Amino acid sequence: MQDRTVTRVFDAQPTMEGAGVRLKRVFGFHDRPLLDPFLLLDHFGSANPQDYMAGFPWHPHRGIETVTYMLNGSVEHGDSMGNKGVIRSGDVQWMTAGSGIVHQEMPHACEGAMQGFQLWVNLPASHKMMAPRYRGIEASQVPAVTTPQGAHVKVVAGRLGEITGPATELIVPCTYFDVHLDRGASFAYELPANDTVFGYVFEGEAVFGSTSGKPVEAGRMVLLGHGDRVNVAAPHDPVDFLLISGRPLNEPIAWGGPIVMNTQEELATAFEEYRGGTFLKHARH
Ligand code: MN
Repeated sequence: MQDRTVTRVFDAQPTMEGAGVRLKRVFGFHDRPLLDPFLLLDHFGSANPQDYMAGFPWHPHRGIETVTYMLNGSVEHGDSMGNKGVIRSGDVQWMTAGSGIVHQEMPHACEGAMQGFQLWVNLPASHKMMAPRYRGIEASQVPAVTTPQGAHVKVVAGRLGEITGPATELIVPCTYFDVHLDRGASFAYELPANDTVFGYVFEGEAVFGSTSGKPVEAGRMVLLGHGDRVNVAAPHDPVDFLLISGRPLNEPIAWGGPIVMNTQEELATAFEEYRGGTFLKHARH
């Protein structure tokens, strides 16, 4: 058993996105392809509705999946497939853009701090033009597991012991855990040695890898190196973090804003089609 150690620490950066949403970008365009198969992670978190109410009006996606996980607050969405609804606290939206969708994501003002995440998962060349797929997962469908070491884990995707998360039949196999450790608790997780794995601390602090490592504070992400086990401990403070892993695609990335393909030509075609009104290949009948 080889424990994974921290190879790189990322500081989430304040960024403006959509129609003027202030958020924290944990990683993104400039970090590719370090996080392969993941492209981007945004952390929304603000007690001030002015920071998020402008939302993300109608925009296209192609070639990727967007995974939205709300901790507190709600986001109203609608898309070109005819899906419509509200993602509430604890809900997950796993949206496979495939050949293309056009959607909007509009936060509602909420009590306290709005908190949530959006992860972009790249699609392999073989699936970039697949029919779009939409999955709304409600909070009650996400199993919460307590391990013998005292870790409280919400299993969104992947497998923990006998428990499998509700986001199944994924194109790119991944694990998406929301983990809480009380002070003194720890979490160990075995996974394939070549999978990319990162941890993003959003509350408290944790030690990743060897127990002698430096604590990682809220707002920081760690990329873990090669190995078949992840160890996380909370020796000083309680912690909340996302632990996400996936099998790398090892394919060329041509990235233009909300559209991610393999070649510049495919990217140019996508934007031409969007301008020309032929972008949607699998629209609702
Ligand atoms: Mn979007």
